[in-house]
Amino acid sequence: MKIGFIGLGNMGGPMAANLVRAGHAVSGFDLTAPMPEGVRKAASATEAASGAEVVITMLPNGAILRAVAAEVVAAMSSGSVFCDCSTVDVESARAVAEAAATAGLGALDAPVSGGIGGAAAGTLTFMVGGSETAFATVSPLFDIMGQKAVHCGAAGAGQAAKICNNMILGATMIATCEAFALADKLGLDRARMFDVVSTSSGYSWSMNAYCPAPGIGPQSPADNGYKPGFAAELMLKDLRLSQQAAEAADADTPMGQLATALYTRFVEEEGGKGMDFSAMLPRFEKRGRG
Ligand code: NAD
Repeated sequence: MKIGFIGLGNMGGPMAANLVRAGHAVSGFDLTAPMPEGVRKAASATEAASGAEVVITMLPNGAILRAVAAEVVAAMSSGSVFCDCSTVDVESARAVAEAAATAGLGALDAPVSGGIGGAAAGTLTFMVGGSETAFATVSPLFDIMGQKAVHCGAAGAGQAAKICNNMILGATMIATCEAFALADKLGLDRARMFDVVSTSSGYSWSMNAYCPAPGIGPQSPADNGYKPGFAAELMLKDLRLSQQAAEAADADTPMGQLATALYTRFVEEEGGKGMDFSAMLPRFEKRGRG
């Protein structure tokens, strides 16, 4: 397939490299990032997109996505598909899908989970919003870049799934960390706490698969000085998107709101920037109730 790939940073770079390895012709554009081996360097986003059957974007935020889409949609041939894999606000995803549809193109919002490791290994999970036809066109590419693609519904449904998932993740990570800090103060051994909770009703991915306490459970960023992993500022980005969506949809999300406030303080005032999001545990350890 002829693919245009715009945004070849930490995630986009290895995703594009996997498409090349699978035999696809990829034309790439990025403002700063180098082209992965085998990706043809285009002089502009428009050049990367022209003649492509599928254009994939992997960009920092919704404003940049809207600007790039406004530029490239006109250059794409009718029937081709614009597939955004960035994590952006639901409104931007829907606006871009509408602009693409008006131009006679298919459009998908297909954010990912799995991080940089998943992008390199080709084991991402894609959460996809958009038409059946567009999903069918891009599915073979999802199979190369990932291990699973779930068609979640119409435009915006992929972003909705992503932010709902990460709102749960942010809240459960905080709950897990504060419970460990309480256990410490009650004199409960962390390993015993893990043995109980990981097989009781308090279990979760945060506890069982990504335990925030060093030396306990499977290997996680806690065992590596809380080097990310999934950085606290990326969790904060997704939590903010969840609250932006909740605001727009008039949904009551008090836990999501509190998780957003705690990660905001952690990242902006408490040295959490650049740390894994599970470093909430040392944060709680240091604190008392006041
Ligand atoms: P990144 O900053 O490494 O990459 C983004 C790239 O976009 C950069 O190379 C930048 O130069 C390029 N870019 C910015 N504006 C551009 C423009 N106008 N035209 C062309 N290129 C432009 O970020 P990343 O970690 O690769 O993340 C990309 C997206 O994936 C984000 O939306 C992020 O939230 C999401 N995401 C990241 C992770 C992760 O673990 N890093 C996990 C899941 C989802």
